Amino acid sequence: MRISVFSNIASYIRSVFRGAWSIAESCTTAFPYILRWGELRKEITEGYPDPVSSKTADDLPPRSRGLLFNDIDRCTGCKECEKICPAQCIRVEEEPGANNSKIWVSVYDVDFSRCIFCGLCVEVCQPASLVHTRQYEGAAYHLTDLIASFGRGQITAEQRASWAALRQMSESDEVTL
Ligand code: SF4
Ligand code: SF4
Repeated sequence: MRISVFSNIASYIRSVFRGAWSIAESCTTAFPYILRWGELRKEITEGYPDPVSSKTADDLPPRSRGLLFNDIDRCTGCKECEKICPAQCIRVEEEPGANNSKIWVSVYDVDFSRCIFCGLCVEVCQPASLVHTRQYEGAAYHLTDLIASFGRGQITAEQRASWAALRQMSESDEVTL
């Protein structure tokens, strides 16, 4: 009975000391920072953007993968990037252009809310129109704002019909030659 009382008191005193030690440790970190005590003041949590130490694109490692950019003038609409993307975050829609050698990429969307920045899409892009930029700040308030669109836009029914006629004309010219 007596042993049990002593052990409880010892345990209580240990807990009090542990608590006091923990408070003292916190104070040694917080007070120099709050009171701006010279050398002891070290930054534990950085503000964002931090006026002193914030990182810029130049601080990134050379092979870092930032947000994607597609140069739509070079993109052939082959959809290889869409097929290989493990996160299914690329959507490509294309249709024949005004001549047989040109595909019209009407939709090219990348959903950055799903992208894991693996870089596979860039690797398979033969014309190298798709690249990782060094831009890494893409935060947005709404998920829909995280979809980047590089497509040329949908064409009208009249345009589609007139382009079909142009292609047919150039095909018959080729046959005549
Ligand atoms: S980087 Fe990876 S996850 Fe992101 S779009 Fe390309 S293939 Fe998909
Ligand atoms: S792989 Fe390259 S060329 Fe092909 S659709 Fe994707 S971005 Fe365009």
